[in-house]
Amino acid sequence: MCASHDCELMISTQIVTRFAPSPTGDLHLGNARTALFNELLARRAGGRFLLRIEDTDAQRSSDAHTRGLIADLRWLGLDWDAGPDREDARGPYRQSERGAIYAADFEALQRRAVVYPCYCSALELEVSRRTQLAAGKPPRYAGTCRDLDAAERAARAERGRIPTLRFRVPAAERINFADFVHGAQSFLSDDIGDFVVRRADGTAAFFFCNAVDDARMGVTHVLRGEDHLANTPRQLMILAALELPAPAYGHVSLLVGPDGAPLSKRHGATSVREYRERGFTAAAIINHLFRLGHATPEHGFLNLGEMAQAFDATHLGRAPARFDEQQLLVWQKDAVHRMDARELRHWLGPLLPAALDEASVGAFIDAVRPNIVLPEDAKAWLDIVFGGPLELAPADSAVIRGAGSGYFTAAAQAADGRAELPAILAAVRAATGKTGAALYKPLRLALTGRPHGPELAPLLKAMPAGKARERFARFADTGS
Ligand code: GLU
Ligand code: ZN
Repeated sequence: MCASHDCELMISTQIVTRFAPSPTGDLHLGNARTALFNELLARRAGGRFLLRIEDTDAQRSSDAHTRGLIADLRWLGLDWDAGPDREDARGPYRQSERGAIYAADFEALQRRAVVYPCYCSALELEVSRRTQLAAGKPPRYAGTCRDLDAAERAARAERGRIPTLRFRVPAAERINFADFVHGAQSFLSDDIGDFVVRRADGTAAFFFCNAVDDARMGVTHVLRGEDHLANTPRQLMILAALELPAPAYGHVSLLVGPDGAPLSKRHGATSVREYRERGFTAAAIINHLFRLGHATPEHGFLNLGEMAQAFDATHLGRAPARFDEQQLLVWQKDAVHRMDARELRHWLGPLLPAALDEASVGAFIDAVRPNIVLPEDAKAWLDIVFGGPLELAPADSAVIRGAGSGYFTAAAQAADGRAELPAILAAVRAATGKTGAALYKPLRLALTGRPHGPELAPLLKAMPAGKARERFARFADTGS
């Protein structure tokens, strides 16, 4: 137990960040970056990182998505100090379980008369919105229910209308705050319409529960996507009305695709799951994300601990950050290069034929690892090393025919039994007098069907007995 004043101060000034996803789909790369940055911001300062699931919208949220999000975050290597799977006194960390906490705040807001029931139907709101748009005005709640008296409210309730609860935005006020990415911000309350804090079904709406949870969970820094920048003044008004402390807000630029538009399905894969299923490693993904919208002098491959040391919130960018698959592939190459034999074996596991013995698997991995970036690359080499006759491109066939049948007769003989590259090369050189590319190239083509690839000696070691001889024999004497 900590009693001293100093210690209390330390606890109250500790940095607390959070990632607050809505479980409405797979973890998007942009959200993965937000989660990563929040964890790094906390770790860098020796603070705490929380995971909060924003699932008050029951129609769009699902438990399956929550489980998927948690699994994806864990797969990336992220780790939170508290969350729905690690509850503590500030929880529950699922908003759908915080109804009682919200109810008390709704009451407080009602007592202070900063909210009022709104009986407008979805249709009425839509008509009002369109009318304003048609008049060239930015659409905003028209204030229809703002000043209803008790009798008018009762009449609407009697007609069976279930109200939402709206926040009464004060007139002619400035809401100022210092965004720790974008700098000083100033909004005019007159530009903000009264907004819903409680839906008709009684559930808490985003602006409300997102803000009060940050305050109640002791969050000191909210780092999130720029799409939430304009929401912040509403959230500050709610917190002020409840006399709750406001966190510092920082909004990072959104991820964009190669064309500069926000990263979306039309750019192809956008979720962590899709990249994982294609065989990208978590290490490659977080190394790419770490540099998106975050300028760092660290150009090398970093693990999470190193990233936490190097993370600098003052270097978060306002310019759109381009997600670049080519760049991701560069990190991926690095990540594969760093895997040890066991990790490689695990990574390629689903692809390896069950009938292959351990020694063959080991020899295969040793041979092809420099040439693999994604599992699909390994798949092609599996076919080459263990599969049937190779298909040859016409130009490659021509090179093979050009070497002459004597060349392959010698090669096939030398490859009898345990094929070793030096013996084969020596035999072919002796039979044909060829050296250099003229000696190597036809061998490689006949063995692999490709002009380039892994070193031949280890590849030969990985091939089943008789395979090399069979491939050379195809071009011996009669040729093909
Ligand atoms: N649930 C919100 C979202 O996923 C959270 C925004 C925030 O981080 O405050 O966009
Ligand atoms: Zn209304």
